[in-house]
Amino acid sequence: MDSIQLQNNLTKVYQSIDAIYPLASNYHLIAVTKTVSDKVIRALYQMGVSHFGENRPQILAEKAVELQDLKEIQWHFIGRLQTRQVKTILPYVSYIHSLDRLSLAQEIQKRATQQVKCFVQVNVSGEATKTGLSVDETMSFIEQLQEFSMIQVVGLMTMAPFNYSQEELHRDFKKLKQLQETVVAQNWQHAPCRELSMGMSQDYLIALEEGATFIRVGTAITQGVE
Ligand SMILES: *Cc1c(COP(=O)(O)O)cnc(C)c1O
Repeated sequence: MDSIQLQNNLTKVYQSIDAIYPLASNYHLIAVTKTVSDKVIRALYQMGVSHFGENRPQILAEKAVELQDLKEIQWHFIGRLQTRQVKTILPYVSYIHSLDRLSLAQEIQKRATQQVKCFVQVNVSGEATKTGLSVDETMSFIEQLQEFSMIQVVGLMTMAPFNYSQEELHRDFKKLKQLQETVVAQNWQHAPCRELSMGMSQDYLIALEEGATFIRVGTAITQGVE
């Protein structure tokens, strides 16, 4: 593992953000570590990163057990989640970013021993390969989540298509922000919805400009490291 490369990558990400938003403090960097080992996570933690994202339930669980001595670590589940996999991640996750259907909410309700912070995943682009609710379905879905006492809707999440132009990225991130504000305006107790999880290695600067509070950055941090 090349920890100098890792430190350089991380510094570049922070510097790119500082260059545009010198005062930005209102965001959390989630290091997406789905392609790297525990060692890299441990090194990033020593460098001050505490939020980590994984997209395979079993791997998240294994890494969480291996790294349980890192007391401040927070795990984010960011991938498609099968209902039968909910029990695998629940003991470890601080956030689930991919709540997109009632059957999943039901399973979380059944298995959780404390409230789970969830992002509702929205397919803003409408691209068929992307999971998530359509913009039109989102409000009524969140309203229905009221009956699940174990679920707290902390925000909305989206993933932009890889081939999007800058304009398209701005447009979709703006749409998600508007939708989030609409949810906030309902004053639903179960859905404070203050957070926006958007932006990956290719588009985190645009996402921050449009109000992201959690950016999910993988490749830009882990490339060339192992
Ligand atoms: C892999 C992944 C990321 C990080 O992608 P990079 O392009 O490597 O930064 C972010 N969000 C989700 C949902 C992912 O699966």
